[in-house]
Amino acid sequence: MARYTGPVCRLCRREGIKLYLKGDRCYSEKCAVDRRNYPPGQKAQARKKMTEYGLQLREKQKARRIYGVLERQFSRYFDIAERQQGITGENLLRLLERRLDNVVYRLGFARSRAEARQLVRHGHFTVNDKKVNIPSFLVRSGDEIAISEKSRELPLFAEIIEAAAQKTPPVWLEVDLEKMRGRVLGLPNREDIDVPIQEHLIVELYSR
Ligand code: SF4
Repeated sequence: MARYTGPVCRLCRREGIKLYLKGDRCYSEKCAVDRRNYPPGQKAQARKKMTEYGLQLREKQKARRIYGVLERQFSRYFDIAERQQGITGENLLRLLERRLDNVVYRLGFARSRAEARQLVRHGHFTVNDKKVNIPSFLVRSGDEIAISEKSRELPLFAEIIEAAAQKTPPVWLEVDLEKMRGRVLGLPNREDIDVPIQEHLIVELYSR
């Protein structure tokens, strides 16, 4: 299945919440959810009450859209999460958080996950001083993520770093904006993951 390339604000309106897919715009008054907080499409407002299955499906779609993961890859993460010890839903979110594109975004080295994915793909980052250009690469506790030497002078990163100074990374990450490096202090607990997802609904969906 191909990656969605249509208007992303439409996805937020469909889910009825901000998914923060567009970087700075999401925090401005131009946000489409703030301006038109109803689902897209002509008959959308007349839609009936959602079934249990509908609620579970929407929750899974929301998670996929936030992290920018395709269906097949998402169900692969679920299989891994199910085999791990602990609570499956939390394992799933932890796996999604460990993706390199997400970590780059969380560290403030990109303004959205979509931008992070593109920058990773273009080879602008290293993990433990080795170039990694795979957005789905899973980081481990202790890993060091850095903007590569060659990319540090790019004006784009000057802009990104300036914006990052206003943000605080989550507790499981440490960032040094001056050195353009970050470190994974440990893997996140559920309370450290600030995504508006009810993961138990996703587990119920896959357990049908
Ligand atoms: Fe979603 Fe951001 Fe668009 Fe608002 S501006 S609708 S949060 S992608």
